[in-house]
Amino acid sequence: MTKIQQEIGKIIQELPPQTHLVAVSKFHSTESILEAYDAGQRIFGESYVKELQQKHDVLPPDIEWHFIGHLQTNKVKYIAPYISLIHAVDTPKLLSEISKQGIKCNRKIPCLLELHVAKEETKYGFSPQECIDYLTSGTWKDLKGAEISGIMCMASNVDDKEQIAREFEEAYQFFQCVKDRFFHYNNSFCIRSWGMSDDYPIAIEHGSTFVRIGTRIFGQRKY
Ligand SMILES: *Cc1c(COP(=O)(O)O)cnc(C)c1O
Repeated sequence: MTKIQQEIGKIIQELPPQTHLVAVSKFHSTESILEAYDAGQRIFGESYVKELQQKHDVLPPDIEWHFIGHLQTNKVKYIAPYISLIHAVDTPKLLSEISKQGIKCNRKIPCLLELHVAKEETKYGFSPQECIDYLTSGTWKDLKGAEISGIMCMASNVDDKEQIAREFEEAYQFFQCVKDRFFHYNNSFCIRSWGMSDDYPIAIEHGSTFVRIGTRIFGQRKY
């Protein structure tokens, strides 16, 4: 067994039944991905469209590709035919474009709304209020090629475990609130994507259903 396969095995053992692993393979080789694949891993996360395209073209067709990074509107069309889940939808405009491309491919593309919970300045994500306002507007109901399947977030990049726990809990409570208000009868709204290499044990305690783990599995990325 290789190091990558050992790490995957250890992580899988720690996950409760409701939580699934997205192996984040950005900047890692197709050989490394195949090692993980041979250990049974099927869900891989990528952050860059060009890199994802190149990998998708040469790797096994039963891999489920998740797009986890910031997605530019003009690049949606390249991944629309096959992407299994888009994690970080951060504007209404992006969701509209995903729907447009989904319709062209005759599919409804599963998407998560990125919630901004971190206390640090990042450009991306809906604030809780923006997210509620958007859902209240109801315009998303007309998007036939995209489906809102849950919430994604990233905690602050800090050592303070209590702060991280508070942020994941905020996301969890927000998910429940949105579920009750807007998706009560819609079972496809069920995904909570939070937790990375350094904080996934905390994310699991706060209801994560997808952890996105890269470094812990594949080692440091070489940019
Ligand atoms: C790179 C990345 C990850 C994985 O981070 P690690 O610390 O390597 O586990 C998870 N989520 C997103 C959105 C990322 O961009």
